[in-house]
Amino acid sequence: MRGTDGVVVLDGVTKVYPGGVRALDGVTLTIRPGELVAIVGPSGSGKSTMLHLIGTLDRPSTGRVHIDGYDVATLSDRQLSALRSSRIGFVFQQFHLAPGVPVRDNVADGLLYAGVPLGPRRRRAEAALTRVGLGHRLDHRPHELSGGERQRVAIARAVVGNPAILLADEPTGNLDSVSGAGVLTLLRELNAAGTTVVVITHDREIAASLPRQVQMRDGRVLPDSADGRVLPDSADGRKLSGGGGRFVPIASSGVA
Ligand code: ADP
Repeated sequence: MRGTDGVVVLDGVTKVYPGGVRALDGVTLTIRPGELVAIVGPSGSGKSTMLHLIGTLDRPSTGRVHIDGYDVATLSDRQLSALRSSRIGFVFQQFHLAPGVPVRDNVADGLLYAGVPLGPRRRRAEAALTRVGLGHRLDHRPHELSGGERQRVAIARAVVGNPAILLADEPTGNLDSVSGAGVLTLLRELNAAGTTVVVITHDREIAASLPRQVQMRDGRVLPDSADGRVLPDSADGRKLSGGGGRFVPIASSGVA
């Protein structure tokens, strides 16, 4: 079941929704451990669909999806949710925090499916909140926080289980530029500490600042900055970075 070197490997993946919308049309993509990747493209080009498939929230219509070495087609629903809860963290534009619940417990809930008892869950939540700079806000409710702080709570919840992959769908979409920059810095720090990060963004500046940009059009992935070159491997296999690759300029790509 295991045996690919990419932490995310999509091979000839299509996704056809009921009603016949072909949201993905033959996507082949490899993301290696430790990469920090921006997914860009016009609205409707398939970005969220691809992120859902990478996150094992959905299965492809055809083609292969390997996540952390596992061919998701060979996993039962139960194995898939175990893979998801232990190896993948999600961050969304809308934060999705439980209203009225202290942020410590919002984050601790990220460990519910891992079967961690309440005490250790809360302690790990506190550590994760400290890591995102919110160790002084443990008892606050989401409505008592700014948008940027809420998104940092959501990131703490996503990483409290120490996932291999962090998937973020427009994480700065609801934030002012200063808060957005703070969230991006946090994603970079998590990546520097070893997490593979895949982020959908409409923000050209953010996309251009990341080491690799994967551009989508009409359900397909365009040749990207990691193509045509061998990514350098480091001793621990995590510190891969872009630069020196062939970039398709975002500005000329028609990204919305
Ligand atoms: P993006 O994230 O780039 O905006 P999406 O992946 O959300 O693109 O959507 C790709 C295409 O699939 C769009 O045409 C969209 O309308 C369609 N689509 C997305 N989700 C569904 C769904 N659940 N059922 C039917 N069509 C969908």
